[in-house]
Amino acid sequence: MEADSRVKPSQRVLVVEDEPDIAALIAYQLTREGFRVETAGTGPEALKAVSRDIPDLIVLDRMLPGISGDGVLQRLRAEVSTATVPVLVLTAKREQEDRIEGLELGADDYLTKPFSPRELVLRVKAILRRASEAPSSGGERIVRAGPIRLDVASHHASLKDVELDLTPTEFRLLRALIERRGRTQSRKQLLESAWDIEASVSDRLHTRTVDMHVRRLRAKLGEVGVWIQTIRGFGYRLKVPEGVE
Ligand code: CA
Repeated sequence: MEADSRVKPSQRVLVVEDEPDIAALIAYQLTREGFRVETAGTGPEALKAVSRDIPDLIVLDRMLPGISGDGVLQRLRAEVSTATVPVLVLTAKREQEDRIEGLELGADDYLTKPFSPRELVLRVKAILRRASEAPSSGGERIVRAGPIRLDVASHHASLKDVELDLTPTEFRLLRALIERRGRTQSRKQLLESAWDIEASVSDRLHTRTVDMHVRRLRAKLGEVGVWIQTIRGFGYRLKVPEGVE
């Protein structure tokens, strides 16, 4: 894992956090790892920073003055230019239930406060690795299931030739489902292939993460969303109807 954890020097991270100590700690850790870091202390400041220059990733605290982290995320996802910017959400333990809503708004991952700076760096790198997955990593460049088409090289997804707006995580999840179509995959397996993290099956929040992303993915897939079947208590599989390639 260490070997491929190098950071491209140009990668920019926007840290949105109103608590100066925490913002400084995150900025310090990321800078030390070679990222270029910008910070914003409020929701409006964050949106302003993004409109100036779209970062490679955003670390977004949920509790912010002005506009909440969820509000910022919602606005980012609603804009074409920022709809797929990777976002790591920071959330307090007491917000446990709200967190699920945050994920539904399109966070790529979340981290519960208090967190270790090391863990944050690992998550950031994992998200960026997924977002920039090289096409030369093997496998088919075009992945299909009926009207769904994924261009692995360009990270473009389409449904019936209409562009699908997927976050990097949703893209990976859909790809994992299509590539192993018909086979049931546990949430743990999906976490490992789509999130690139070693998951403990007992981590309920991680499994909820998968559920939330599947729900969002189904919604985006419209009528073919039902092809993603829930295998109760276990995981998911993509079941393509008879006669569909
Ligand atoms: Ca805060």
